[in-house]
Amino acid sequence: MALIVQKYGGSSVADAGAIRNVARRIADSRAAGNRTVAVVSAMSDTTDELIALAGQISDSPDPREMDVLLSTGELVSCTLLAMAIRSMGTDAISLSGAQAGIRTDTGHGKARIAMVDTSRISEELDQGKVVIVAGFQGVSDDMNVTTLGRGASDLSAVAIAAALGADRCEVYSDVEGIFTADPRLVPDARRLDEVGFEEMLEMASYGAKMAPRSIEMAMVYDVPILVASSLREGPGTLIHKGEGMKFPVGEIRNHVRSIAADSNVAKITIPGVPERTGSQASVFEPLTEAGISVDVIVQNVAVDGSADISFTVERTDFSRAIQVAEQIARDLGAGVPIGADGLAKVSIVGTGMQNAPGYASRMFRALADAEIAIEMISTSEIRITCLVADTKIGDAARALHVAFQLDRPS
Ligand code: ASP
Ligand code: MG
Repeated sequence: MALIVQKYGGSSVADAGAIRNVARRIADSRAAGNRTVAVVSAMSDTTDELIALAGQISDSPDPREMDVLLSTGELVSCTLLAMAIRSMGTDAISLSGAQAGIRTDTGHGKARIAMVDTSRISEELDQGKVVIVAGFQGVSDDMNVTTLGRGASDLSAVAIAAALGADRCEVYSDVEGIFTADPRLVPDARRLDEVGFEEMLEMASYGAKMAPRSIEMAMVYDVPILVASSLREGPGTLIHKGEGMKFPVGEIRNHVRSIAADSNVAKITIPGVPERTGSQASVFEPLTEAGISVDVIVQNVAVDGSADISFTVERTDFSRAIQVAEQIARDLGAGVPIGADGLAKVSIVGTGMQNAPGYASRMFRALADAEIAIEMISTSEIRITCLVADTKIGDAARALHVAFQLDRPS
């Protein structure tokens, strides 16, 4: 008997009909003899609506109240789903995150999972029930409801799968899998049969829709994830350790698996930062203290004892980051920070690029041929990222998709 954890996104439970469709799928999984746990997101735009509602009541809603409020979205979908499954003659029970044993720290709004106590889930499974768990939420040691961050029902599902030692975690939404690029930007993007954890982590951090923390956890606990559509039957994409992916064995192949694009980027430059040991720490520590995460960092070569430091932040953090940067500049005697928020990141992603020549130059050439200026560049072992104007993101993604032949079967 296999143990399967399924996760259904908000669009898969958008209305009563959709909930019945998901209920049928879960009941089928149970009928096929699987011990089945399903984690659900809130119905379609519920979370956004709740956030907007709170915004009408208060400019700065109390974080504790906010988390209780947001957790109700997932309670609605998971209770309705349990009812639908029971009405099909399959025994089911819904559990809140707290009841399901998701223990977190106290970081309201983006709490981190401390541990998963699976005893209640296991008890219910032992009684032959399907267990439906409200995603995106947990409980702190002081018994306050917490939420795990936007899109984090994926993380709930992977954490439960890891803690239960599930055979597989299946993530269902309205997309058919992971693609070589965002099909909205690149119409001839293709579905990938499989993707390695590291590659997926880069894709998730750089725009593809899977919460990056969920991939990190899946990688640490080695939980294979099948991403597929809840609306259409199809093979989906298996995200896994990636062994055996590269047949026939050989080094001469296209290492680029996908093009990732992310428009949520702003850039800040602090000019004339005095050159001395520790000046970089003095720049970035205050940003960390303000809870702003920094991504691409570029420092130019110092002339006349000072250097310009540029970095990117998420666009949602931009106005706060500029304020912090202004204070940093005053403290260090640097120039007035310059901000630009109309930027996007476009990346080529794939394992094996680092030790194969020519990927960066081919990327720069393709962007040049498409007359797209590159503002900043960053690389990892399996990714090369260029910052370009937001308005060029579609052109850039399409140009790279063709340049790396992702429009053809590999
Ligand atoms: N409902 C939450 C959100 O919209 C969590 C999720 O969908 O995964 O962010
Ligand atoms: Mg989601």
